[in-house]
Amino acid sequence: MKTANDILPERSQSIRSTGCSGDGSGIKCESESVSGAISQRACVYCGARVVLNPITDAFHIVHGPIGCASYTWDIRGSLSSGEEGYRNSYSTDLREKDVIFGGEKKLAAAIDEVMETHSPKVIFIYATCIVGVIGDDVDAVCRQASEKYNIKVIPVKSSGFSGTKKTGYKMACHAIMDLIEPEEAVEKVDGVNILGDFNLAGEMWIMKSYLRRIGVNVVSHFTGDATVDNLREAPKAKLNLVQCAGSMTYLAKKLEETYDIPFIKVSFFGVTDTSDSLMRIAYATGDKDVIARAKAFTQEESNRVLPLLEKYKKNLGGKKASIYVGGGFKAISLIRQFNEFGMKTVMVGSQTGSKDDYELIGNLVDEDAVILDDANPAELEKFMREKGADILVGGVKERPLAYKLGVAFCDHNHERKHPLAGYEGALNFASEINLSMNSPVWTTIGGAEDV
Ligand code: SF4
Repeated sequence: MKTANDILPERSQSIRSTGCSGDGSGIKCESESVSGAISQRACVYCGARVVLNPITDAFHIVHGPIGCASYTWDIRGSLSSGEEGYRNSYSTDLREKDVIFGGEKKLAAAIDEVMETHSPKVIFIYATCIVGVIGDDVDAVCRQASEKYNIKVIPVKSSGFSGTKKTGYKMACHAIMDLIEPEEAVEKVDGVNILGDFNLAGEMWIMKSYLRRIGVNVVSHFTGDATVDNLREAPKAKLNLVQCAGSMTYLAKKLEETYDIPFIKVSFFGVTDTSDSLMRIAYATGDKDVIARAKAFTQEESNRVLPLLEKYKKNLGGKKASIYVGGGFKAISLIRQFNEFGMKTVMVGSQTGSKDDYELIGNLVDEDAVILDDANPAELEKFMREKGADILVGGVKERPLAYKLGVAFCDHNHERKHPLAGYEGALNFASEINLSMNSPVWTTIGGAEDV
């Protein structure tokens, strides 16, 4: 196998580039990070917390050292239309003594304290790395607390070392299945569940407003702006819409097996994907009126937004984009958006993409584009420099890297304060990348080659 300079030999199969082409069967993905490669990927616990944290009236106790609890609402701003409890983080703050003698008593005491002060409907208990090492019986503590308080106290076994971020998604999906288990037979209602939107900057509200416009009822939403009671309605829905495929396809399959709810994958990023998704949802309902309304709505919105986007094309056309995001499905939507602007995607990667995602990505980009799974900062830097990227679209961990290289940046992940989904989001996205790439700062500092 041929390996490009500066790439760890163990990483070569996870990268498609001209000097480093994998083994011909598609790039290696959905596997554990290479030891010592300093992966950009988040840990198992982080994956679980991403999915569960937006449930606005759930409480989260992190059973582990205080450092794990730094992952809070503040670094993922999913919005709420009511409850605010989820914005707090609780920790058992395990210390050396607890590591030696065990942390079960401390966990039981933390649950008692949260019940006394807040009396929540559900508590998630995240068992992080050190708990996986010392072997606390978290299941037993949760079971006893559930019996004592007659609420769900759900263990989320998410030691950071026990797999990939996707393992954390799976743990969260198991916790959700436990949470929504109905006590009596389910009677179906007309309507859909939205899976995999976390209401960052209010994007869940945008999706719900579109569905309302075309006459589709939303039963439940996972997990942006969700409440425990709303989630428990989910088994009644007739269709699941999966927006973040990486985190929620597993839950969608479980809901199909258990409650006979089929699912379709959708994407509300970019005009084309938003319109396509709304039409596919409308056809899936089989309702002629919904289909007619969806046709009219998507046409009307496209007519409104496309001329506005056209104005950005003269500034964006010919620029080179690089992408490094959490899931493959988002990367695909971003490539399509860049294509629509006349931009070329020269590097694209994700933390949790699947073989299917990477195959589709390979078909959407040019032959010489670099595709990489579970990248590290050295690889991102190397390929951005080599390809002369004008912008990096990524998350909180990629921002400093781009700025240090003198490359424009667009946050498409945790911290953004304005929506990038739907027709409004497509306009925000064009405006943001235009402002970022064409800022005078890049000519002042001289660009990536001179930094
Ligand atoms: S679970 Fe482990 S890897 Fe994740 S934040 Fe805690 S200590 Fe770090």
